[in-house]
Amino acid sequence: MSAKTPDELREQVRGEVIVEGDADYENARSVHNGMIDKRPAVVVRVMNAGDVMTTVNYARENGHVLSIRGGGHSGPGFGTNDGGVVIDFSRMRGVRIDPNGKTARAEGGATWGDFNAATNAFGLATPGGIISTTGIAGLTLGGGIGYLTRGHGLSLDNLVSADVVTADGKMIVANENENPDLFWAIRGGGGNFGVCTSLEYKLHPVRNVYWGPMFYEVSEAETILRFYRDYIKHAPDEMGAFPAFQIAPPLPFIPEDRHGDMFAAIVACWSGDPAEGERQFKAFHDVAEVKAEMVGPVPYPAINAAFDGLFPPGIRQYWKGNFVKELTDDAIAAHVQHGPAAPNVSSTMHLYPINGACHRVASDASAFGHRDANFSMVIISASTDPAQDDVDTKWVKDYSDAIAPHSEVGGYVNFMDDDDSSRVRANYGSNYDRLVQLKRRFDPGNLFRVNQNIAP
Ligand SMILES: Cc1cc2nc3c(=O)[nH]c(=O)nc-3n(C[C@H](O)[C@H](O)[C@H](O)COP(=O)(O)OP(=O)(O)OC[C@H]3O[C@@H](n4cnc5c(N)ncnc54)[C@H](O)[C@@H]3O)c2cc1C
Repeated sequence: MSAKTPDELREQVRGEVIVEGDADYENARSVHNGMIDKRPAVVVRVMNAGDVMTTVNYARENGHVLSIRGGGHSGPGFGTNDGGVVIDFSRMRGVRIDPNGKTARAEGGATWGDFNAATNAFGLATPGGIISTTGIAGLTLGGGIGYLTRGHGLSLDNLVSADVVTADGKMIVANENENPDLFWAIRGGGGNFGVCTSLEYKLHPVRNVYWGPMFYEVSEAETILRFYRDYIKHAPDEMGAFPAFQIAPPLPFIPEDRHGDMFAAIVACWSGDPAEGERQFKAFHDVAEVKAEMVGPVPYPAINAAFDGLFPPGIRQYWKGNFVKELTDDAIAAHVQHGPAAPNVSSTMHLYPINGACHRVASDASAFGHRDANFSMVIISASTDPAQDDVDTKWVKDYSDAIAPHSEVGGYVNFMDDDDSSRVRANYGSNYDRLVQLKRRFDPGNLFRVNQNIAP
């Protein structure tokens, strides 16, 4: 019999069921973005696929709003809600490696830190995010852009199978052979189609990389961006590098008298033979004088934690993102005008390259909408001070508006905020209509709607 109340639900699941008034409720209701202040009625810290099926049935049958929380990093805070039910995967973070088959199967709550630590022991990796605390599930199901993307594609290009609990509360396998339509849809469709209890990935031989941020005078920003645009077009696939605007944090590799100054930066990762790294980085040293840098060979998991300190849990964030086909001179002028005005050390613009391996996958091979773009741009404000929210958000909006005429209408779903729901069709481009058809088939009641929603 299905549960009708949280008490009945508690009797039917192995994991914790947390409600308002419970000791851990404040912790259980919160997500990474400190601007999100929502109060769900029930948070279920699931322990297995059975708990997920039971909770999906509970939410659907009782008409509750349902959120899915993997790593909890969604900018708009999709991992929580007001008055509804949350499936919280924080107790399901296991990662199992098959070193012979070069695959990894990870539970739906694993973070990239969990994943990279497990795979690095075998000298293997797959493309993931640049911060270790981001969830593999949300990041992969929306796309997955990181240092290894030019060489090995998006995270979702490396997904080989997933266990999915659908809106009817049943668990099915989705891969190229079983439920291929669902497999197509979850690779880009975010959490719109079901709850992934585990995800299996292809792995590649990557143990150590040559990596590091290089800081240039901000007056060189135009030179750096023009250089980068031409360089990355023909760079070897093993080079993942993105330009950024960055206020210097108080770190030992930056001269003390420059802490707090704004710089133009390039963060580069050479995932080929680390011994070749220095030669591969020569172009970055030749383009302009590097005022501060921290480059060298490092284990791959270390680079995914290198910027964690800039994005601690609870930091208040606002996000905007666009796909970009060409970085035109006009676009560069807009970057040079707005980027240096970033309001604080955790606020930034990153321009991630999505050419290389990403372009060798057909546009309709998965739901990810924009294989024709060369870059995925993100502008983020992040601060611990609520009094700064308006200033920070305005900086992001003004910057995004200035770049919009030089970008695609659509952007990467994982870089959208909650005021971007009107962009969902554009985000998926020509794949949108098929997504709607599949949404009607797998979730006609739109149970999974706390996301960049593909309405049935
Ligand atoms: C600090 C920071 C750094 C980031 N860096 C990168 C980066 O380098 N590259 C990149 O591509 N993106 C990056 N992102 C964006 C990131 O991809 C999205 O925020 C993503 O949604 C995070 O996934 P999550 O599981 O942590 O989030 P959650 O908030 O837990 O989930 C977000 C959404 O994903 C879906 N979801 C989560 N878990 C599941 C599941 N098990 N089954 C089904 N659906 C699920 C749900 O729809 C949910 O609403 C970053 C975000 C932050 C905050």
